[in-house]
Amino acid sequence: MRTHSSPVATAPSPDTTVRPLLSSTSPGPRVAPDPRRFWHSLQKSWAGRYGIALLGLLVAFFLQSQLLPFMSSGPFLFFYGAVMVAGWWGGWGPALLVTALSVAVVDTHFLPPRLSIQMRSADILALSVFGLLAVFITKLNVTLTHALAERAALLEREHQAHAAAEDARSRLHTIFMQAPAQIFFLRGPTHAFDFSNAQNSILLKQQDAPGMTLREGMLKVGDQDVRGVLDRVYATGESFLGCAVALRIPQSDGTEKEAFYNLTYQPTRDDRGHVEGIAGFGFEVTDLVHARQRAEALATELRQAEFRTRVLAEVSTVLASSLDHETTLRNLAKLVVPALADWCFVDLAEPNGAFRRLEVAHARPEDAPVAAEVINFNLMPEGNPRHPPTAALLRGEAILFEEMTPAHIKRSAHNENHARVMLATGLRSFIAVPLVVRGHTLGVFSFFTSFSNRRYTQADLAFGLELAYRAALSMENARLYREAQEAIRLRDEFLSIASHELKTPLTPLSLKLQALARELERHPDTIPYSVVKGYVDTGARQVKKLAELVGDLLDVSRIAAGRLALELEDVDLGELLREVAQRYEPHAARAGSVLQIEGGETALVGRWDRLRLEQVVTNLIDNAVKYGAGKPITLTLEQGPTRARLRVRDQGIGIAPEHLPRLFGRFERAVSERHYGGLGLGLYITRTLVEAMGGRVRVESEQGRGSTFTVDLPREHALPVDVQALPSQ
Ligand code: ADP
Repeated sequence: MRTHSSPVATAPSPDTTVRPLLSSTSPGPRVAPDPRRFWHSLQKSWAGRYGIALLGLLVAFFLQSQLLPFMSSGPFLFFYGAVMVAGWWGGWGPALLVTALSVAVVDTHFLPPRLSIQMRSADILALSVFGLLAVFITKLNVTLTHALAERAALLEREHQAHAAAEDARSRLHTIFMQAPAQIFFLRGPTHAFDFSNAQNSILLKQQDAPGMTLREGMLKVGDQDVRGVLDRVYATGESFLGCAVALRIPQSDGTEKEAFYNLTYQPTRDDRGHVEGIAGFGFEVTDLVHARQRAEALATELRQAEFRTRVLAEVSTVLASSLDHETTLRNLAKLVVPALADWCFVDLAEPNGAFRRLEVAHARPEDAPVAAEVINFNLMPEGNPRHPPTAALLRGEAILFEEMTPAHIKRSAHNENHARVMLATGLRSFIAVPLVVRGHTLGVFSFFTSFSNRRYTQADLAFGLELAYRAALSMENARLYREAQEAIRLRDEFLSIASHELKTPLTPLSLKLQALARELERHPDTIPYSVVKGYVDTGARQVKKLAELVGDLLDVSRIAAGRLALELEDVDLGELLREVAQRYEPHAARAGSVLQIEGGETALVGRWDRLRLEQVVTNLIDNAVKYGAGKPITLTLEQGPTRARLRVRDQGIGIAPEHLPRLFGRFERAVSERHYGGLGLGLYITRTLVEAMGGRVRVESEQGRGSTFTVDLPREHALPVDVQALPSQ
């Protein structure tokens, strides 16, 4: 939660800060004693007051004595002066004393009879008038003195107050100027500066020049110009308060710097309450905002990491739930949406190299029509490498598009229709991860956000990688499991077929041996030659068959162990073919087929292993007879400058297209064991031998219309014969 703290509260207020400063009294410099103080203290003391009064009386007496001859009619004149001085100087006491003494002195010294206290009635009157006038003068004097003293005191207080006010103003100015915040006062609708402190002037990059106006474009508060904000405050009289407001400050290079401030723009009013200006306070909180943003980002990251760990745990459960990888991937896509994404696609690699979109999961039910369209757009590795999932596939690595713009989406679409559908998904932030295991790409896992507006980060990409890795591993495990199951099935089938196959020649062999034993019993001395030969021929055929079967098994184990060595020599393939065909003729005849040889009249010599080549030819002819349905079999030889080609074509049962890709694998058969024997090894051994001699073997077949096996062999065998390097399947 943000805490709103108004800069007004943080700025030094006159109440809290200035008043103590105003009341503080600092000792002034040492100065010379003030004479006025001396007179002042003299006037205050009792002795000073009466002393001066008496001194005045003496002076009056002296002057009156000296001037008496010239002014005998006015004996009081100077004593009036003495009374006035005493009253002015000392107040009532000294004035009355001087009055009394003056009466006595005038009566004794200046009124006849002199030096006597006898008074005439005229003297009494004169003295009384003097006394009264003296009292009156003193009254005036004292009143005037008091008035003057009060005025002086008032003036002094005013002076002190003025000095204190000036001092306070100056201190306030210093405080405002040095305050670690922006402070300014504007006047009038033009926002002319009355005051701008140092921080504010630095911010605005202008001199502190009262009278300057706040120009447009100087600052931006969020997206609006600061002048607009001030105009509103001035016009409405309502304060603007902003907490952690982004200020955009134009820089000299034309860019804008963003900083965060707590702002208060407060209207100031005149005596009648009309807005006359604006007081502005700002306190920079950029560091705080950045720290808070970092803390928030970390908290979010932490939450997301926890969430991802939870999702990964669920992913593991989903992956372990089924051995059917398609179901597993579908469930995975449904887990990712909506936990981490608004949409999720799974594209699977097909055996033929193409890709099939297996699943499109979406968070909002209303997106179903778009999803129904999306599922039709497959990856096009050759057509559109810019398409994001295709790009991930081609690069063989995970890709992240933090923010995909509509222009970017249009550029990466297969075509306009695809672009329309992609845009309809609302695609925003995108991650695609290829499902790769042991170098094999099994598909692509893509997920993206749309309406949730979430932006993926590197952390999400890492999560996607982990997810894809686990999914690919699970797919691979499922595949290995399937293969293991298949291998077990094949092995069991092989064992049953092998035992059957091995038993097949043994039965007639044992029957013939039993019959031969009976003949021996019957003719202990002379068994007819023809009888023995018949039994021996049959027995030899069965033993040969047995030997061939065992030979095949031995070859397979040799190939698996990498111990199949070739002995290369010059061999005439035409001659070899004719020999094998001749040998097979009786067998073919028994099956109702004839063997026709085309080509090979001239010597077709190459560097091959004679026995192994014979084995290849035998296997192909044997199969052609076996599956040839008693129809003619054509053996064709073609000769190239560097290569020899042998074709064995029958018109028999043929092979269904779905069996063709696996026919050359170990133990692979495409016929029912009830109708045909065979270990499913002949073609495997044939392929292995042909490839060991640097050649290739392939089959074309149509069910019910026969098969053609073609062997291409280089005549000069250049490759090292390394059977171990050949795959066993
Ligand atoms: P097998 O000893 O069982 O015949 P092969 O490896 O020689 O084993 O052949 C594998 C499978 O290929 C056979 O089971 C059969 O289904 C098929 N096949 C081989 N040759 C032919 C052919 N000429 N015509 C039809 N099917 C054939």
